[in-house]
Amino acid sequence: MSLDSLFDSAARGQMKAVRITQDHRVFIAEVPVPTPAEDEVLIRPAVCGLCGTDLHILHHGFPGSVYPVTPCHEFSGHIVAVGSAVRGLREGDFVAVDPNVTCGTCRWCRAGRPNLCPHLSPIGVARPGAAAELVAAPARNTFRLNTTLRADVAAMIEPLACVLHAVDSSQGVKDRDVLVMGGGTMGLLIAIVCDLFGAARVTIADPSPGKREIAARAGMVNTIDPAALGADGALGETCFDVVFEAAGVRRALEQALDHVEKTGVLVQVGVHDAEALVGINPFRVYERELRIIGSNSLADKFPAAVDVMNDIAGRASVLIGDTFPVWQFAEAAQAMAAGTSIKTQLAFL
Ligand SMILES: [Zn+2]
Ligand SMILES: [Zn+2]
Repeated sequence: MSLDSLFDSAARGQMKAVRITQDHRVFIAEVPVPTPAEDEVLIRPAVCGLCGTDLHILHHGFPGSVYPVTPCHEFSGHIVAVGSAVRGLREGDFVAVDPNVTCGTCRWCRAGRPNLCPHLSPIGVARPGAAAELVAAPARNTFRLNTTLRADVAAMIEPLACVLHAVDSSQGVKDRDVLVMGGGTMGLLIAIVCDLFGAARVTIADPSPGKREIAARAGMVNTIDPAALGADGALGETCFDVVFEAAGVRRALEQALDHVEKTGVLVQVGVHDAEALVGINPFRVYERELRIIGSNSLADKFPAAVDVMNDIAGRASVLIGDTFPVWQFAEAAQAMAAGTSIKTQLAFL
């Protein structure tokens, strides 16, 4: 299959791509079709998920962004061309991509912590993303999928991989009483994964009745308004062995720390503003021997997420809300910011 037969624009060596400028504008550009390097594949995206990172790139700037940015790092699609040195992947394969392109040689990469690589160059941030007719990706970042998986569900493998890293960071949720602060994509996927991994009980706290309703549809039995937790942090009923802060909101983080049981773990997954500071009670950390752990991106969990998504596809599909044509990126970003659905997606209609 040649590229030329796929797209009129590709026949001219050009393709359409969403571009975000540093001064917060979105436009559709004709850009050169990427030529895959010998160890890369060229992918025709099927569905992209919008993420908080995309909104940061649009509205504020995001560390490492190279403007103009072609956004979207969460996607599924089909391979249309492979570089000469690529083995094990071929044209037509249905794939998802770990967007984190790393050096592979630094101490963090060698230690299995590629998310901490100082040379990280993520697709959709520093490299062109999937809001385009075609996107290039290293073959080692590209994973073939079960063809029975829906393309929109497959586009959530990337956030699921971040969730697996967070759950792994908690040092185990089996038989634990778990609280998840925040019922967005990350929070809900964390809750579903904790269920799957044998948590004794999973409670999800979000102030939005709409999000709690979606959580219930995804099979979460215990959904509460965080106001119901109170702020006193008394031990017992309102304390949990493992608390995930997945709201990215200052108050949620402070409240999360108040509700960790003795020797418990707080995993901070929510992305806060780089300058945000919170008030914590150090005596409580000391007295209860608490552990506070940060979890950043997906580390080496992408292959595991490909497997786990096969198990939770039905529950995860409940998260998918509004879907826009990819060329309506600006409208989709607005809808996502309005927060009416959990996961806003872009489709190549
Ligand atoms: Zn993301
Ligand atoms: Zn590295």
